[in-house]
Amino acid sequence: TWQSTEEVEAAIAKMADKLGSLLAERTIDRPLMVGIHSGGVWVAERLHHRLGLQEPLGQLDISFYRDDFTRIGTHPQVRPSDLPVPVDDRHIVLIDDVLQTGRTIRAALNVLFDYGRPASVVLAILACRDGRELPIEPNVVGLDAQLEPGEQIKLSGPDPLTLRRGRVDPD
Ligand code: 5GP
Ligand code: MG
Repeated sequence: TWQSTEEVEAAIAKMADKLGSLLAERTIDRPLMVGIHSGGVWVAERLHHRLGLQEPLGQLDISFYRDDFTRIGTHPQVRPSDLPVPVDDRHIVLIDDVLQTGRTIRAALNVLFDYGRPASVVLAILACRDGRELPIEPNVVGLDAQLEPGEQIKLSGPDPLTLRRGRVDPD
């Protein structure tokens, strides 16, 4: 194990603090939190609870051709999502578990903007790793992962939430 459940929960507590300060700074009092299915939703549930947000949690389902662990395909595929309220003029807090190339977030922003025109979007990521291919960086980060070539972050959840690091399993 690379990050124990306690360390992951501590990182999420730290993220909630940072997110709370950022929203206060911007005088945003009713943000709409949206988790990216599936890992991002588990993280979002923790943050949503810690921040005591009033609006229900939204979900975006942006699936890959391959599963998240092997992740050979790099073209995010979008499926129907569940946003509880209109996004027009709302301040969105977008949550995902891992940020790598940035393509998932790019796709998520596209989906979000298909629903309407948010007033702003803040991005919070539990584990930030190398491999960016797009100019996308989070506003709030839980953990910075230094990975060896061929390594992946393996997130298991929702209860308990743990992070391991390891080689990509050959198919
Ligand atoms: P990106 O689209 O930025 O390349 O990758 C981010 C998405 O792919 C995340 O939603 C996450 O589910 C998945 N992902 C990318 N790299 C990893 C990784 O090392 N571990 C896990 N668990 N997911 C990853
Ligand atoms: Mg994902």
